[in-house]
Amino acid sequence: MSTHQTLHVVNPATGEPISTLPAASADDIAKAAERARQVFTAGVWSRLPVRERAVVLLRLADLMERDAEILARLDSEDAGKPITECRTGDVPGAIESIRWFAEAADKVFGRIAPSGPHGLGLMSREPVGVVAAILPWNYPLAMTAWKVGPALAAGNCLLVKPAEATPRSALHLATLAAEAGLPDGVLTVLPGYGSEAGAALARDPLVGALSFTGSTATGRRILMAAAESNFKGVSLEMGGKSPQVLMADALAYGDELIDNMIEAAFLTTGQNCTAGSRVLVHRSIAEEVLERFTAAAKGLVIGDPSDSRTQVGPLIDRAAFDRVAGAVEAARAGGAEVRTGGLPHGLPPHGAYYPPTVITRAPDGSDVLAKELFGPVVTVQTFTTEDEAVRMANTTEYGLAASVWTRDLDTALRLARGIEAGVISVNAYSEGDITTPFGGWKQSGFGGVEKSTNAFDQWTREKTLWIRTH
Ligand code: ADP
Repeated sequence: MSTHQTLHVVNPATGEPISTLPAASADDIAKAAERARQVFTAGVWSRLPVRERAVVLLRLADLMERDAEILARLDSEDAGKPITECRTGDVPGAIESIRWFAEAADKVFGRIAPSGPHGLGLMSREPVGVVAAILPWNYPLAMTAWKVGPALAAGNCLLVKPAEATPRSALHLATLAAEAGLPDGVLTVLPGYGSEAGAALARDPLVGALSFTGSTATGRRILMAAAESNFKGVSLEMGGKSPQVLMADALAYGDELIDNMIEAAFLTTGQNCTAGSRVLVHRSIAEEVLERFTAAAKGLVIGDPSDSRTQVGPLIDRAAFDRVAGAVEAARAGGAEVRTGGLPHGLPPHGAYYPPTVITRAPDGSDVLAKELFGPVVTVQTFTTEDEAVRMANTTEYGLAASVWTRDLDTALRLARGIEAGVISVNAYSEGDITTPFGGWKQSGFGGVEKSTNAFDQWTREKTLWIRTH
């Protein structure tokens, strides 16, 4: 395999190059895993008292706070994310994640089996050893922190492969980790291509657990690579086509409803695995909701991601633009009605901008209804009965998130029970907070494996110690 590949980081807002980095080869991955194995075995991190590990991670969180603006800019430039989103969402979320897992590390206890008087069964949680994370480009730092926090708190040595487009915030995080006192070789960031570096991680015989966030197609490949190599524990966090279900009384929430719908649909320019990209609305309020939602979508500020007023930035690249535009045009050709305010004048010609778009009367089975588009495109469909709403909510192959809007508690609970998704929010569009598990059902993933103390399950193995008693 080539050892001289290069990664070209490009600003999606302008199409201009930002930086060029060496890309990790398969050989680099094998060497990094070997080194991580040695560091793990040496015990400089894995056998450190857990409180001391926590102190290093808390120092890392402080340093992230010091460099918050740098981190926000790196993600905004690499991913084209609006800077305000990075400043108020991604970076504080990442800091909170490192801090929360540092503090949680020594509060997760083992178990004792209810065995008879002949023995004592103790179950302890142990670090896996060498572990890996393969990351997406839409929340570069935040997703890195979701993995780094629990993986390191648990005592592992972690190899991180950021997405091709967005390696710089993870690299900066690694320098901060060194400054915080993390021993060499405990956290290794390896920018590289999915087809080479990512595939090598998925096949590496020393990597005992791998946590992936990205597309369903790549998740499938990783799981197969794990099966064909060492059966490493894989956790998958993948795509979505999440519904926002509005019952007949949802407009009682007024502007709060519309604001939440907009955020659900267009945060990170709709390039969000939990994007609420399918609005299912009760027929009796559909016209008013559509009018208010479309007006709000048209009012979003589209532009330069580095401008703090910008709410909608570019898509990640031209290929994403072609995919989104192609699906919308196909829906239009099939009879769908497409509402959009278009793009403002003066945007850079090579920026991958696509305007917020609301689609009604999309043909059954069309890509805009069934496929994850990863762009600022929302469909609106109507229903008349609760059963119909649940049926429509469950039509896609995904099951990541959903929201239900109603003032009636019984209705909310019935819908929440009926909808097949890992995270359901009531009268909000939310993933909860760091204390709540996150993860999808069906082809969205393996359930709530991120955030909360659940995250330690990905990064630890349970060991049974049986002591015979006399
Ligand atoms: P997208 O299509 O939006 O880029 P991917 O799921 O392909 O989403 O990318 C998510 C992450 O998976 C990236 O870090 C990418 O490099 C990595 N990746 C892509 N292909 C593979 C693969 N075959 N094996 C392992 N990782 C991969």
